[in-house]
Amino acid sequence: MALKYTFRGGSHVREYKNTSACPITHMHAPAVVSIPLSQHIGAPARPTVAVGDRVLVGQVIGEIAQGLGCPVHASVSGKVVAIESRNNSFGIPVQRIRIENDGLDEIHPEVRPFGKPLSETSPQEIVEIIRTAGISGMGGATFPTHAKLSGAIGKVDTVIINCAECEPFITANHRLMLEHPEDILGGIDALLHALGLHDVTLAVEDNKMDAVEALRRAIAARTPAAQAVRATVAVMKTKYPQGDERQIVYALTGKEIPAGKLPADVGCIIFNAETCAAVNRAFYEGMPLRRRIVTVDGDCIAHPGNVLAPIGTSYADLAAFCGGWIKTPAKIVNGGPMMGAAQWDVNDVVTKGTSAVLYLSEEFIRPTISDGEAAACIHCGRCAQHCPMHLMPLELAKYGREHALDDALRYDVMSCVECGTCTYNCPAGVEIVQYIRAAKGLLRARAAAEKAKAAQKASNGEGSHHG
Ligand code: SF4
Ligand code: SF4
Repeated sequence: MALKYTFRGGSHVREYKNTSACPITHMHAPAVVSIPLSQHIGAPARPTVAVGDRVLVGQVIGEIAQGLGCPVHASVSGKVVAIESRNNSFGIPVQRIRIENDGLDEIHPEVRPFGKPLSETSPQEIVEIIRTAGISGMGGATFPTHAKLSGAIGKVDTVIINCAECEPFITANHRLMLEHPEDILGGIDALLHALGLHDVTLAVEDNKMDAVEALRRAIAARTPAAQAVRATVAVMKTKYPQGDERQIVYALTGKEIPAGKLPADVGCIIFNAETCAAVNRAFYEGMPLRRRIVTVDGDCIAHPGNVLAPIGTSYADLAAFCGGWIKTPAKIVNGGPMMGAAQWDVNDVVTKGTSAVLYLSEEFIRPTISDGEAAACIHCGRCAQHCPMHLMPLELAKYGREHALDDALRYDVMSCVECGTCTYNCPAGVEIVQYIRAAKGLLRARAAAEKAKAAQKASNGEGSHHG
């Protein structure tokens, strides 16, 4: 049997890939979309339209004044009926632009192909095309793609396309690889051209061998010009969290990314498969990121599937498109069950980072054995055995629960990638990753407060010096 790439630690989780045979279906845009101005890592966009304006598909409705971020575009044509502040799932207020869809799907005149062949396009032009298309990492990380790319030019020599899709339930990338492999390859061409590189590895888990074959067929069928790019498909062992950047880099190159560092620091850059398809669309059609593939699943949904949904579609409209609920969900998850975020409002919406929306019932959600009390560790050691970052999750959970932040730091809590493998494997039902997330949040807040205090002190000192 051929060698398959893998990493140390991790876990075999139940896959629930119920929708892997469900083709991507185009959803009619709903009557109303509500588009958040913060869907990416970095500063929120500022609205560039006003209530009452008519907007067209692909028109910029939010722009970044300065700093890291991505512009936001209209996903339908219609009338802006509100610019409102709504809390996201973390309770943070985010501005949203509500557009009443006029059903005409009228495209903005500025949406047009770049016009020059790729070979005559400069790296900076590619970065700018990606920036203006508002593309951020579509695997869930939502880091602005133009910033990742421009920071890597001249710095990296290894390009990896993350097609692992290791989270249970999610099959959006799987369907994209089967149905539109050439879109992924077209985006890769543009990204490699900007980086001045010719080799790329597409990393696919071995539970998607049909996708491996589809990609290999598409690579073999490429025109001689496109064959300047040497693309290889690497078959990865199916294991969670294979899709984590650190695990992919280790599995394929043997390089470990030190804590606090990025893949680029070891010469690697990783793009998600659907991000590549979005780059392809931006370059060849000029269409910004206005919709994405969402796996809609969970035991509450009548007809699970893969839906090409406009950004800003509510979870209620998405569920209705999939036949509605057959029972009332106790929890809606944006993303996979391991790393996704629980949502409490059916009016929350699909964003650029939404690879799945899961509607899960009370019976489905694993009951803890603690009956409402915090579950107690029985010191079995399984969490440590499976942690892909080789941490001591039980200690981290303990210190997180006790808010013993310095102890948590001593046990390297900031290296946790929040993959949830420890929680998944804990027989006692300890919500390990939740305690870890809380500790990391408190540590970040502490660091920010210390930094602000130091800046204040410095400016006071400066003031008194000059005074
Ligand atoms: S401690 Fe962090 S990195 Fe390790 S298994 Fe738990 S969530 Fe994943
Ligand atoms: S897996 Fe759960 S019970 Fe076992 S050591 Fe870790 S926290 Fe304790």
